[in-house]
Amino acid sequence: MPWTAPAPRAVFLDVGGPIYDDENFVAAVLRALDELRTEAGDSPTDRRRMRRIYDEARQRQGGSLRSALAEEFLGSADRRQELHDRTRSHWTHPPGTMYGDVLPFLERLSGQVTIGVVANQERTVIDCLERDGVAPYVSVWGISAVVGLEKPSRELFEWALAEAGTSPEEAVHIGNRLDTDVRPAQALGLSTVWVLRGEAPPQPTAEQLAEPDLAVPDLSTLADQLLIPSVVP
Ligand SMILES: [Mg+2]
Repeated sequence: MPWTAPAPRAVFLDVGGPIYDDENFVAAVLRALDELRTEAGDSPTDRRRMRRIYDEARQRQGGSLRSALAEEFLGSADRRQELHDRTRSHWTHPPGTMYGDVLPFLERLSGQVTIGVVANQERTVIDCLERDGVAPYVSVWGISAVVGLEKPSRELFEWALAEAGTSPEEAVHIGNRLDTDVRPAQALGLSTVWVLRGEAPPQPTAEQLAEPDLAVPDLSTLADQLLIPSVVP
């Protein structure tokens, strides 16, 4: 699937998946579930069952993972907020968990487009991005916990566009989920790239792959594809 949209003026990146390994989030959820179960006198979370529910959520690209996990492991989907709050307190991106293709990708884009992050993340992610050398490339900081808006709401994308000073048609959003990245960005008129790692499906269907403008396994060749679009006859 070649990139056929014009070269963008702004490029927005989701953080979990494109930049950091989503296993950081899985580790935080597992720790939260174990704590909540221990507090209730229950045994630790069954890792295989948890992984099965997680993979099913990845495959469907929609619905609430939190509700499914709360129902399965905490006895009720009503405890989803409690699980969310506990997960947040453990969620971080340790050194060494950033993908190796991130900095070369940003270096290639640097000076040619406005670069931003548009991500549902805690405020602490900024420290991680500074530590790992990403921050100097970023001029639009669309972090949900900082801005007060969350994907998939259109307002967070609109906020990022306004910060970048670009129209939706001049911007591309790069994310690894259909429900919170590709679909809301596309609905606003942005071009979309789906990165198939982390929370992306283990086996994406043809229908899913047809949704974004481009689907890629990683960022290794993406900068060239974005900056030198194929000519549409
Ligand atoms: Mg993500």
